[in-house]
Amino acid sequence: MSDKPKIFIVEDEKNIARFLQLALEKEGFRTASESNGRRAYEKIVQESYDVVLLDVMLPEMDGMEVCRNVREISDVPIIMLTARDDVKDQVSGLNLGANDYITKPFSSEVLIAKIRGILNRRENLPRDDEKRLITGSVILYPERYEVTVRGEPIELTHREYELLQYLVENKNRVLNRDQILQKVWGYEYGGDTNVVDVYISYLRTKIDYRFNERHIHTIRGVGYVLKD
Ligand code: CA
Repeated sequence: MSDKPKIFIVEDEKNIARFLQLALEKEGFRTASESNGRRAYEKIVQESYDVVLLDVMLPEMDGMEVCRNVREISDVPIIMLTARDDVKDQVSGLNLGANDYITKPFSSEVLIAKIRGILNRRENLPRDDEKRLITGSVILYPERYEVTVRGEPIELTHREYELLQYLVENKNRVLNRDQILQKVWGYEYGGDTNVVDVYISYLRTKIDYRFNERHIHTIRGVGYVLKD
């Protein structure tokens, strides 16, 4: 069953999302849905979909921005759902790397034909289902111990990588220095937590300061927390 293609429906209008879900499942596709643009982007990065149906007007991050961000790191097929006659949206969608678009209102037959066309063209290409961890523009590839920020590869030592991954896996949770030391360095460091502060400063230099972003926050008297 799991080799059925999985279609990700990104649409905040519940009726349309429901209509798409029913039409696609009737044709034997698996579906997942999301109504929020930012969450949709995170899911596209973390999960593996065969085709993404992407509405333009979405809360928090619009479809164009989702498309542009996804294209920095993934070539998952994207079909934009645009308003009728909005040629500007159709053109910008394709310019941002969408594979196709369909104008609302549309028939499920036309949409399914487009999906099948895209799937047939991709059948012999390798699948992009590598595991990723994401925090804002920071993406970790645990299988390769590699990190990109805004699509740009970052050179980290093994220990810096381990520290960053631990922070990302505990995103939005305050971690104290002892916890970090124990998890990332193990017991052999004998409780000297200065090394944690030193490595946090290395990560800040390579990520936050270099890209003028702010992911690593100091909680005075406690430890650190990583945020989007
Ligand atoms: Ca919408």
